Amino acid sequence: MKKIGPLMILEGPNKSKVPFSRSLYIDSSEKVLIDTGAEPTLLKTIQKEKGIHYVVNTHYHPDHTCHNYLFPQAEKWINPIEMETVSSIEKVAEQNGIYQEWGSVGVEKWVKTIPNEWIESLSIIDKSYEYEKTYCFDGVNVVFLHTPGHTKGFSCPYFPDLGVVYTGDYDMTTFGPWYNGTDGDIDEFISSGKRLLTIEADTYITGHQKGIYSNKEFKEAMTQFLSIIETRDEKIKQSIKNGLTFEELTKIGIFYPPRTLDNMLLYTWERCGIRKHLKRLGYTVQDNEIKSFVVN
Ligand SMILES: [Zn+2]
Repeated sequence: MKKIGPLMILEGPNKSKVPFSRSLYIDSSEKVLIDTGAEPTLLKTIQKEKGIHYVVNTHYHPDHTCHNYLFPQAEKWINPIEMETVSSIEKVAEQNGIYQEWGSVGVEKWVKTIPNEWIESLSIIDKSYEYEKTYCFDGVNVVFLHTPGHTKGFSCPYFPDLGVVYTGDYDMTTFGPWYNGTDGDIDEFISSGKRLLTIEADTYITGHQKGIYSNKEFKEAMTQFLSIIETRDEKIKQSIKNGLTFEELTKIGIFYPPRTLDNMLLYTWERCGIRKHLKRLGYTVQDNEIKSFVVN
């Protein structure tokens, strides 16, 4: 297990790949677990041997909150914007584009597919933290930077004295930026990504797969990561030129491989993500036709 001063980096199964994530643990006299997507047996061992007083979630997505339910005794915090979201599973469905794409019938259908532990993990969150304020856990300072884009409330915990930031879903994966919920925003994603490059940090810890980057490596990786947004734009523009309808465009795999799109949630995010690109490129969807905003 990797350690940086009082911070322990806890891996999730399969290199912390979705539906799990990397967690951070502050090992001071106040024991803090940041996100709970790590290996559950590892989390339980830490709980038993050292204890967990606080669980702090960067955002509400299940790959970062799924094991909250293992710590009923800990006080659980989430960002102030998403305190509201976690109050009902219907609100979570709304933020994930399910209501937008399929209406209340779709929401009902989706709710039935969710594991009980996910719902429990969200329903037991106690309170919200403030953005941009310095919290001190027995001498370990942490600031929850508000970095919207991935979700509206998404935060990146930054440890100014250690020069460490947990970048969560700024994960630098080859999949590219994820802003596919109705609460995601492409422009905000880009601004927040750029903001992460301006803070004073030497160590960037991502939430999934690749892991730890130096400042220089993270800068290079961010350029590449954000450029995937333009690649998606280009692919969509080309498809419109080729005369594809909206429904056809949602089947070719702008985000997810086409073979995975029979999964309802992935297909919902595919549609939702494409709508964001269309809007950004100046298009609107009318009865399945893609039309330009620009009047000639
Ligand atoms: Zn997420």
